This record gives sequence, structure tokens and C-alpha cells, in this order.
Amino acid sequence: MYPFSFHQKKTVAETVATKSNHADTKFLAGGQSLVGVMKLRLDKPSHLINLDAIPELRGIHVDGTTLTIGAMTRHAEVASSNDVRNIIPGLSQLAGLIADRMVRNMGTIGGSVANNDPSADYPAALLALNATIITNQREILADDFFLGMFETTLEENELIQAIRFKAPIKSAYAKFKHPASRYAVVGVFIAQQINLVRVAVTGAGPSVFRVPSMEAVLSKNFSASELETIVISSDGLNSDFFADASYRAKLIQLMAMQAVQNAK
Ligand SMILES: Cc1cc2nc3c(=O)[nH]c(=O)nc-3n(C[C@H](O)[C@H](O)[C@H](O)COP(=O)(O)OP(=O)(O)OC[C@H]3O[C@@H](n4cnc5c(N)ncnc54)[C@H](O)[C@@H]3O)c2cc1C
Repeated sequence: MYPFSFHQKKTVAETVATKSNHADTKFLAGGQSLVGVMKLRLDKPSHLINLDAIPELRGIHVDGTTLTIGAMTRHAEVASSNDVRNIIPGLSQLAGLIADRMVRNMGTIGGSVANNDPSADYPAALLALNATIITNQREILADDFFLGMFETTLEENELIQAIRFKAPIKSAYAKFKHPASRYAVVGVFIAQQINLVRVAVTGAGPSVFRVPSMEAVLSKNFSASELETIVISSDGLNSDFFADASYRAKLIQLMAMQAVQNAK
């Protein structure tokens, strides 16, 4: 590692003020992406501001059928929360499928969403549920948030404070994971609302995306059999030695069928 200044603040206001006072500063959540990137010298921030001691960023809150999850909530907390399991079963299931126990105990929903790794799981849930990303400056719908690989609409001094979800009728996540990293080779999140189904895919492309052809048939009849004849184009999908684009295209169909079958 190389020298950098470490800051720890107790409020969002102090944290954001510290960031605007120092150039080349990064927020530090669980460090599950950032520390690895720094070790590889892919990023060399001069200042880190730890978010761990800010009570405003913690907790899972329920208000009727609305679930609000603080940015610093660990994946393990989301996976084990009865509130999440009762209100959005697919989200609870997704959190439990992230990486391994160590990463789940350190990694945070805010860090994962801000990072927007093309193979991360949460972006699929946020997009399918059209969640709201609450920052220190504004509220952003997931539809408008994810721009491209590791790219979001977050501005320089913008801090994610929480994510707000509305309960769907049914939801589920199906993931074909990489056997080593456990990141999604393809992950599909399905959310059924009244007269509307949203299907979001992670791992398959440069960033999370929706599948309108699947959404159209599932909105009329929420049954896996509706997806049997859907052909996903491999154009623009990721290709690597583990899974080429046509394999990923087929996986989208299979994972979507699995998610519909398991939705609750
Ligand atoms: C071995 C391994 C396997 C993994 N497998 C999976 C997997 O299967 N699925 C999956 O989804 N993920 C996986 N991950 C990623 C993991 O889920 C982490 O949650 C993710 O990397 C983000 O880490 P973090 O929360 O610790 O954020 P950090 O690494 O601390 O931060 C990541 C980035 O987000 C920024 N940031 C953090 N919090 C905020 C905030 N509140 N507001 C604005 N910006 C913020 C930071 O400045 C930094 O740029 C894996 C990671 C590892 C190391």
C-alpha cells in the first residue's frame, strides 16, 4: 500500500464537507472493491473518508410496503433481515448469494451500487424494482442511475445515504455464478407489479439492462413457459474465456425462467 490520509466522521454533512475540502478523495465503505483497486494501483486516492461510524447510513426501515436500506448496511444484514425477506423475498435471496461469508460481512449495499460493477448483483434488483437511490443531494430512480461499466450519475461530492424499495407482488433472483469469484456470469432479477413485470440482467453486458421482450410477455401471463420461445440476441453481450456472448444469451433465458418459477 502507499501513504494516504484517513478521515473518519460521524455525520453525512461533515463527511461531504471533508470531501469537498480535499481533492482526490474517496469514500470508503467496506473496502471490498476499493482496497483491491488501491492495492493494484488502479486508483491512488490521497484521502479516504471512512463511512463506518455514521449512524445516518445504517439500518433497515419499514414503512408499510416500503423498505429503506441504509447505504452502509452489509450484505449479510440484508440477507438475514426478516423485514427484507417478508417484503421483498427476491432481494433477501440476492444478498445471500453475493460472494462468500467474509465479503458479505464487509461489503455494503451503498458501495456495491456506487461501484456499479457490471457483474454485481444489486444493480439487477434496483433496476427491476425501480428503486430510489437517496443521496445527500437528491433522489434518483434506478432507471436514471446506472450509466455504464463502473459508471453512475453520482456526482463528485455525492454520497449515497440509502436505497428505497417498493414491495412488488412477487420477486426472485436467479444467478449463474462464476465458480471462483462468485460474481454473476449472468444474474436475472424479476419483479412483478400490478399489470407490469420488470426483468433486469446483470453480468451479461457492460452494465445492467432490462429485457423488454420478456417484460411484455410476462406482464400478460406471469409464467416461465412464456419465455421458452424468447430468443435473446448475443449482440453487445460480454464474451470471455469462461462464457462467450451466445452462452450468456442462453443463460439470460434460463435464469429468467428459473426466477419466474421461484418468484414469491
Ligand atoms: C472476492 C470478492 C467476491 C465478490 N463477489 C461478489 C458477488 O458475487 N456479487 C456482488 O454483487 N459483488 C461481489 N463482490 C463485491 C462486494 O459485493 C462489495 O460490496 C462491493 O465490492 C462494494 O464494496 P464495499 O461496499 O466494501 O465498497 P468499497 O469498496 O468501500 O467502495 C466501492 C466504491 O464505492 C464508493 N462508495 C462506497 N460507499 C459509497 C456511498 N455510500 N456513496 C457513494 N460512493 C460510495 C467508494 O468510494 C468506491 O469508489 C465481491 C468482492 C470480492 C472482494
